[in-house]
Amino acid sequence: MPEKFDVIVVGAGPAGSSCALTCAKNGLNVLLIERGEYPGAKNVMGGVLYRKQMEELVPEFWKEAPLERPVIEQRFWMLDKESVVQFGYKGLEWAVEPYNNFTVLRAQFDQWFAGKAVEAGALLINETVVTECIVENGKVVGVRTDRPDGEVYADVVVLADGVNSLLSKQLGFHKEFRPDEVALTVMEVINLPKEKINDRFNVEDNQGCTIEIFGDSTKGNLGTAFLYTNKDSLNIGVGTTLSSMIKAKLKPYELLDYLKNHPMVKPLIDGGESAEYLAHLIPEGGYRSVPKVAGNGVIVIGDAAQLVNAIHREGSNMAMYSGKLAAEAVVQAKNREDFSESSLNSYREALYGSFIMKDLEKYKDAAHTFEKYPQYFNDYVPMMNKAMSKFFTVDGTPKREKQKQIMKSVTGEKGTLRVLQDIYRAWKAVK
Ligand code: FAD
Repeated sequence: MPEKFDVIVVGAGPAGSSCALTCAKNGLNVLLIERGEYPGAKNVMGGVLYRKQMEELVPEFWKEAPLERPVIEQRFWMLDKESVVQFGYKGLEWAVEPYNNFTVLRAQFDQWFAGKAVEAGALLINETVVTECIVENGKVVGVRTDRPDGEVYADVVVLADGVNSLLSKQLGFHKEFRPDEVALTVMEVINLPKEKINDRFNVEDNQGCTIEIFGDSTKGNLGTAFLYTNKDSLNIGVGTTLSSMIKAKLKPYELLDYLKNHPMVKPLIDGGESAEYLAHLIPEGGYRSVPKVAGNGVIVIGDAAQLVNAIHREGSNMAMYSGKLAAEAVVQAKNREDFSESSLNSYREALYGSFIMKDLEKYKDAAHTFEKYPQYFNDYVPMMNKAMSKFFTVDGTPKREKQKQIMKSVTGEKGTLRVLQDIYRAWKAVK
């Protein structure tokens, strides 16, 4: 192991492996440090991997990566106690190359992805915890690890250590999370024969379905649940912001149990065997919670930089893309032999100019609005269910009369003005 590397990347999740791979492809001398027994050993994701950003890193990755199913249908459920309003899209164009999204199991996927960085020339060391950044004269010059003689040096250290980045906290880049800035999500992998999955979700062998579930899945609190199909297992999970959990006195495992026993969900998972139970935080503070992302000799990427779009459940793609942007900034800095904050700020500029920060900026008020005004999940989801039940019940009421009754049941409960205010507020939060 050379004494000094061009770049040390801490964490072999999607962000870290993307950065290490791009740096190595550009001829840099890269050390990738992972605390797990292997990359992915401790990593958690609902499971949707997006093609676009991955393909930029490994062209036609679907021919070799350990993927579960290409997603051909995305459903949204507005769940009430004994009913559901659903909408979504199913398209066979997503069943063929180049596909759209895929479900993945992170333990397998992360290992393969980190392997690509190694193939490109990065040195990966597992079972090694980076305990702190080494700072000399105001510049990060390396990292200290939990190994004996565990100090390693580099021109740039890239922090890809995930949601609760102790390392960027140590550098003073971000403070302790507020409970409304993170969601706690619990999930289970449930083994189920592939024939049952195909029947229950109306798909074929190499086709997958995702369901995002709002409303009663979180007992009306800000948050979502999900149910995704793998080859011969299902991923089911649910999460809310920590602040909602505290306020509503929710226990995450009780919420998952409630979801699994919900009459709309139970038949889909029935007979399955629990294979894994996982819990993880998701950074959901959005635009305003993004910390300082570049300093002297250091860059922060992925979840460590809070780059998650909770509304569109995008995180892995943002992690990978920020990793790529960071690598490009490191390569430029290397060409200049200047690793100062102002030099590495080219990463910050690229990040703020990319879809990542544009999307986070678009939704900067969304989570706050939906948490402050709980009626969206609490009142409107049951109202939608009642309205649809009425709409589909054939009871001899003339249709115009029925339409009036439905409108009255919505506006009657809250008043027309309140409903219009709520619609305007929600539109403003996501426009
Ligand atoms: P991570 O994946 O957390 O990787 C960080 C790595 O750093 C880990 O391997 C960890 O072991 C290592 N590490 C941490 N500290 C140290 C240290 N001190 N020393 C050495 N190594 C260290 N995103 C999607 O795109 N689609 C989804 O469907 C989706 N669903 C999700 C469902 C759940 C339940 C959760 C929790 C998240 C979900 N996300 C989803 C978000 C997505 O998982 C993250 O945005 C993504 O994993 C971030 O990648 P990362 O590399 O930044 O961080």
